[in-house]
Amino acid sequence: MKPYLQYLVILLDDTSVAYCHADNPLTERRLMPIETLRKAIRFGMKQNLMIQYVYPDYDLPEEYNELIESIDHVKIGRDVRVYNGVPAAVAGKNVVLRLTTGEFIARQYDIAALLPQVERLNICLTDIAAFRDEQTEDYKKALGTIGKVVANLLTKQVSDTEHPLFEGAGGVGAGVSLNLLTDRLVLTEMHNCEAGIGNITVAPNGKFYLCPAFYYDERMGISNRMNHTTKDASRSVGDVDSGLNIPNRQLLQIDHAPLCRKCDAYHCHRCIWLNDRLTMDANTPSHQQCVLAHLERNASRELQQTLAAQGLHTGNEIPEIDYLDPFDVREE
Ligand code: SF4
Repeated sequence: MKPYLQYLVILLDDTSVAYCHADNPLTERRLMPIETLRKAIRFGMKQNLMIQYVYPDYDLPEEYNELIESIDHVKIGRDVRVYNGVPAAVAGKNVVLRLTTGEFIARQYDIAALLPQVERLNICLTDIAAFRDEQTEDYKKALGTIGKVVANLLTKQVSDTEHPLFEGAGGVGAGVSLNLLTDRLVLTEMHNCEAGIGNITVAPNGKFYLCPAFYYDERMGISNRMNHTTKDASRSVGDVDSGLNIPNRQLLQIDHAPLCRKCDAYHCHRCIWLNDRLTMDANTPSHQQCVLAHLERNASRELQQTLAAQGLHTGNEIPEIDYLDPFDVREE
């Protein structure tokens, strides 16, 4: 994890697609003024940031398209397709599925069937806060089902192409890439969301937020950590005119996260918005987030062992552990 900004997320409209854990509750169009977009791009250029535009579901005016194309970028909602639920087929090769845990479990075979259609599948659970320990076995089984399909696809691809299975840390499995299962195979250190550290979001109002979810909260009047609605719900951390201003930014860093810094669920999103909502501290994870990430970590270990039994080695051996929540084995 690099402790400096690398990405600028630009929400082009209030109705830009939700692509992560938080739903976008805003339903009325509010396009970012073109002058604000120009300033945001300039900020990104000065800071040498990779820009990620987040698109609404309508076509933008031509003057926006010209400005957008003036700098290297990724289009979320266009280049990266986002689906709520599990479609029968997907458009594009880089796909995000936003699912509840129940949908993930119920649609495990349909999800597995999508894998040959894409180069990258990111699954983002939208109800982590509501996850219950009683769902543990079902989630584990669903991961196992999909893991078997991943193993079969990888084995077939490697034997067909004679390509190496993985090309090292940060590399991608030979044509099958699923965040929940294959990322942990290649990671040797934390690679989390890094909102506020590795990336920052600018909203249509020209203000910076740690991530889109904090903007949504502000717009919905949710300001404090108990999700109470208050009159002053400001969650911004600067704006495109005065620059970025994140108070006590070090408190978002992993070296200030006592549980996460000792953890090896390296693929975990480590969502600071969920943390803030569920534990009242941006850098302290919830039980739900840790258990889900450890079930995925352990399923990655099983996948690794299945591949190794077929002579396909991923290099970075994932050790066996006997807990699902690092809080349970914390050092006092
Ligand atoms: S599993 Fe828990 S402790 Fe580990 S990185 Fe994720 S949030 Fe942090």
